[in-house]
Amino acid sequence: MKLVLPLAALALAHAGPAAAFLPGPRRALLPGLAGTTVPGRIALTFDDGPATDSTPQFLRVLAEHDVHATFFVLGTEARKVPGLIAEIAAAGHEIGVHGWDHRCLLRKTPARTHRELRATRDLVERLTGTRPRWFRAPYGVFSTGSLVSARALGLRPILWSTWGFDWTEGCTPDSIHRRVSCNLGTGGTILLHDSDVTTGNGAWRATLGALPAILAECRGRGLRIGALGHAD
Ligand SMILES: [Zn+2]
Repeated sequence: MKLVLPLAALALAHAGPAAAFLPGPRRALLPGLAGTTVPGRIALTFDDGPATDSTPQFLRVLAEHDVHATFFVLGTEARKVPGLIAEIAAAGHEIGVHGWDHRCLLRKTPARTHRELRATRDLVERLTGTRPRWFRAPYGVFSTGSLVSARALGLRPILWSTWGFDWTEGCTPDSIHRRVSCNLGTGGTILLHDSDVTTGNGAWRATLGALPAILAECRGRGLRIGALGHAD
């Protein structure tokens, strides 16, 4: 029993921040994770890229609407397409760290998590000349170690306030638009995906189709849309 209790406590300490995944507890415990809380603004973010088949199409639609976004990239994907990372940055978008790969951080040691976050941050900086400021854990599940590492690496953890469920089989532009609209509010953050690297189901096409309607919805509600760290 003497041994079990400390181990249980350690496990809880490791997994505790995972509760941030749940919208209710997240808002209550860590309000800053939902967005930058700037009145009148909403941040647009994309996870899981970059991918050569999908990401350039998102860049095209964003350019057509004169909107910037934050792309949370994976190191494993970014190193395959360094030119695309540079292209995202050159178009004026922000790049954040999603992780080296998409495995849940609760399955990694703190040391490995630190190495991977640093490697992803440094890769983005090398390819764009700009050091990333933001970190969003895969599945929105932060381990305690990842939060300690993020602080040491100058990365601010961030989640979202609304999402499109746009990774799911069978999602449509209309279902994504409706989902995002449910919790669309001032100071919040929209989560979408510019790649299907974790599912391979092509759902990004529905996301791309939903994007113009989502941007129109934000503007219709008087919200300024932009990247997390921009003042636009
Ligand atoms: Zn992801």
